[in-house]
Amino acid sequence: MQTRGFGWTGIQVPIIGQGTWKMEGDSAAEALAALQAGLDAGMTHVDTAELYGSGRVESLVARAIAGRREQIFLVSKVMPNHASRNGTVQACEATLRRLGTDHLDCYLLHWPGSHPLEDTIAAFEQLVRDGKIRSWGVSNFDVDELEEALAIAGPRRVACNQVLYHLRARDIEDRVLPWCAEHEVALVGYSPFGSGDFPQPQSRGGKVLGEIARKHGVTPHQVALAFLVRDPHVFGIPKSAKVARARENAAAAALRLSGEEIARLDEAFPVRRGRGLPTL
Ligand code: NAP
Repeated sequence: MQTRGFGWTGIQVPIIGQGTWKMEGDSAAEALAALQAGLDAGMTHVDTAELYGSGRVESLVARAIAGRREQIFLVSKVMPNHASRNGTVQACEATLRRLGTDHLDCYLLHWPGSHPLEDTIAAFEQLVRDGKIRSWGVSNFDVDELEEALAIAGPRRVACNQVLYHLRARDIEDRVLPWCAEHEVALVGYSPFGSGDFPQPQSRGGKVLGEIARKHGVTPHQVALAFLVRDPHVFGIPKSAKVARARENAAAAALRLSGEEIARLDEAFPVRRGRGLPTL
């Protein structure tokens, strides 16, 4: 599995990792097997959140990573309504208990909320000093919110911004990705398959995906993933509760698209410019 430096931290992280949203609705045995198959295939960046299944998904992740914690780049998120100075610390401690670990590799504010960002960041910095998190970042932050975080924390503190990024939602390429690249902030793209709303094979873009996939002997989902992680600052975190799909997603990291294929996809799924950051 190809890795790249995670923003300014420089920690080597696989370019394709694993999401866990809604896994509480999957068969626990299947989800566990898929997560473990994904880890075996190198997708050791595992993304979860206290929100997911109200903590139940973190408990499932604990079972998936048991006995191999040191191989994992483990990320979780605090809900904005918990993100006060003390609330963030308490939420992190509860997350650590559910995950059965003593530290996170990165801890994110799930989306901008009403608690002052200064307080959330102060709590993140305390958690770093206490050894409970190795780094921290944000999620669903547009450029003005990133600027605010930078003004509060200073340079080389925000490790990542996790944002919506799939073929039909390439908005981040307009302003957010260039900002993150300039400030050494890893861009983690969530919902790389549109959260289950993947381009239909008969649609215009779906046909382009299918043609490129057939040429490489891969699936359209793998082509989409390879396209999304083509930028050296971007990481992808597809979610699957199926062993075969987890392996398929991991294998996409080895797929190299030609310049012509990238241009065809770029044309079939154009970037929408001048809009705010979309979220799910
Ligand atoms: P996604 O990864 O875009 O799509 C997941 C869907 O695609 C599931 O229905 C899955 O079904 C299916 N799938 C996975 N691999 C496939 C493959 N190779 N072929 C065909 N279908 C496949 O959606 P997502 O879960 O919304 O996003 C990924 C992760 O990003 C989340 O799990 C979460 O960790 C994170 N996220 C973060 C935020 C945020 O606000 N920060 C928001 C949304 C998501 P099966 O499971 O049945 O395979």
